[in-house]
Amino acid sequence: MTENKNESVHFIEQFVLEDMASGKHGGRIHTRFPPEPNGFLHIGHSKAIILNFDLAAKYGGKTNLRFDDTNPAVEDVRFVENIKKDIHWLGYDWEDREYYASDYFPTLFEYAVKLIKKGKAYVDHSSAEEMSKMRGTPTKPGVESPYRNRSIEENLELFTRMKNGEFDEGECVLRAKIDMSSPNMHMRDPVMYRIKKTPHHRTGDQWVIYPTYDFAHGQSDSIEKITHSLCTLEFENHRPLYDWFIQELEIFPSRQIEFARLNLNYTVMSKRKLLQLVTQNHVNDWDDPRMPTLAGMRRRGYTPEAIRRFIYKVGIAKRENIIDLSYLEHVLRDDLNNRALRRMVVSDPVKVVITNFPDELEEQMPSDNNPRDEKAGQRTLLFTKELYIERADFEVDPPKKYHRLKPGGVVRLKNGFIIQCEDFDMDANGKVTEIHCTYFPDSRSGSDTSGIKAKGVIHWVSAKHGVPIELRLYDRLFLDENPLGHPDKDFLEFINPDSLKVIPNAIAEPAILDAETEERYQFLRMGYFTKDPDSTPGHLVFNRTVTLRDSWAKQLRN
Ligand code: ATP
Ligand code: MG
Repeated sequence: MTENKNESVHFIEQFVLEDMASGKHGGRIHTRFPPEPNGFLHIGHSKAIILNFDLAAKYGGKTNLRFDDTNPAVEDVRFVENIKKDIHWLGYDWEDREYYASDYFPTLFEYAVKLIKKGKAYVDHSSAEEMSKMRGTPTKPGVESPYRNRSIEENLELFTRMKNGEFDEGECVLRAKIDMSSPNMHMRDPVMYRIKKTPHHRTGDQWVIYPTYDFAHGQSDSIEKITHSLCTLEFENHRPLYDWFIQELEIFPSRQIEFARLNLNYTVMSKRKLLQLVTQNHVNDWDDPRMPTLAGMRRRGYTPEAIRRFIYKVGIAKRENIIDLSYLEHVLRDDLNNRALRRMVVSDPVKVVITNFPDELEEQMPSDNNPRDEKAGQRTLLFTKELYIERADFEVDPPKKYHRLKPGGVVRLKNGFIIQCEDFDMDANGKVTEIHCTYFPDSRSGSDTSGIKAKGVIHWVSAKHGVPIELRLYDRLFLDENPLGHPDKDFLEFINPDSLKVIPNAIAEPAILDAETEERYQFLRMGYFTKDPDSTPGHLVFNRTVTLRDSWAKQLRN
């Protein structure tokens, strides 16, 4: 991608440059993005995707997509398909290098046998509870299992029987024989294989033993000859274990480098929590526009360019921090402002009748699709006798300095004419039902010779040509900056009850009929919008991506 060309070199890139300069692996760089298919990708994953793909590409290297699918209980093909779709949407391609840790099950099994034969792994019949007791604490050494000194022959036989399904789930595991008194808890004889009699989404019921993440992850990198295994900081403590496996198995020495994950305030990113939001119907699905998933953000109207620019601006570092959601939205607005087509939509319509406008006349008003982009061209608005304006743009009893429409007052209709309010109708409840105005024929926008000063400009839609649309206005899903940061409270308590507001009967100018899904619009004065895939020809639905200004910042100042 081009936007990073002039960025300074971050610490991972420096390591890569050193390795290339020293001729390690023949100066080759090969990375991978290793998602577990147990959920949709979220904005945090985009940091890892962008880092891995762009870094390798910059130095002529390659990037694999590898599904780390070692836990059949939580994984699903639906997730595999959507992960692929989202990476492509972000703008990246793994060509023919789509791999699965499950494809390596036979190799990993051989690796385990090799360790057993070296006296470096053993079958443990201790219960999970006993094992956890014997593990010790970071300050207290662990205790060796009574099964730790089984003979190599016995271990080989027991492991084969595990593989053949002769034991029940939880009855025994295979453990690495390392050091029960290591200060690093991950080195205290970690579990390598456990029994799971759940069918796997790829290997079916071929296997009843599955490698743990720790036994599969590093080895999969080695099998693929990944030169630089980039991962998030929580794996720093696992590195000695991965290096131990590499050394004992004498396999390709992938170099693991850790970086800080992306954290956003007002946002929950753990897939387990996102799953909970979905299964408990707090949102509609993984691609609900309120979700921080790439699928949700796409549906909401985010562009891949905005996400990439944001990730580059945040940068790659070794220290954890929390980024403001407002900052992401700021980057998004910048991007949308340049690309969004302008349209007029009235969300709460009240009718205006222009009494001096001929009944059948349709004044053609050519209007820029995007004043910031000449190439975006123009569309023609039709100004007619009956129009809709926003109910909120007319005040019967306005405060001082009110510049929109009021009895006797004038206002400019954007890309139209200046109108003056003559009178209006009200129903029994005091609700305005119709406003009667006159217009000034010589006040046409762009060639106004009327000499009339209208201080306010409001948007409008022709009543004759307007198209009904549904608007979905989104707000933050959580009201708390750090929904997971309250040990005494469930994060669900912080869900914003007003995160979705539906406006079923807005009226849009007819050009909206040409909208494509994922095309970006600015509805004047209302925000950026995009067409939702729920739309049908007779029922158009638009999601608000983001407001025009940061309403949360204003709220904080008040
Ligand atoms: P989660 O904790 O959200 O469930 P995960 O780390 O379990 O995510 P994986 O599918 O294992 O999800 O992640 C794939 C890759 O994406 C890993 O290399 C992981 O380090 C990286 N990743 C996940 N979350 C983030 C994040 N917030 N920022 C940067 N990278 C991330
Ligand atoms: Mg994970």
